[in-house]
Amino acid sequence: MDKLKIINNKLNELSNSKFRSQFHLRKYMLSFLEKKGYDTIIQHAYDIINRNLKPAHPKNDGRQTPTKNHPVFIAQHACGCCCRKCLKRWHNIPLNRELTNNEVNYIVSLLIVWIIRDYKNQKNDSRGD
Ligand SMILES: [Zn+2]
Repeated sequence: MDKLKIINNKLNELSNSKFRSQFHLRKYMLSFLEKKGYDTIIQHAYDIINRNLKPAHPKNDGRQTPTKNHPVFIAQHACGCCCRKCLKRWHNIPLNRELTNNEVNYIVSLLIVWIIRDYKNQKNDSRGD
């Protein structure tokens, strides 16, 4: 299976979760995306995942991901990538070891595809307002 297919399948799976599908980008995050551009958001996603999820034992695991401020945080909740327990449950990534570069790349790709989708959905919904 190619990577995009894996990501699409996972996003479909997540959209069936009532809890995960309640997360959406806020209006100020849409503006933030327009201002920064996706290259910057991807860089931020790498910074956040490397800092908050990559270590074998992340600091404050389970409470390290806010539900506001940055679009990547919202995407992490929507995609089951908010803490190591959720990574285990949703993505079968083992606890108690550092994430591999492949895993970090997978998580960032998933988050970015979710962000682009949510951005587009919201822009389409508000057309003609
Ligand atoms: Zn979590």
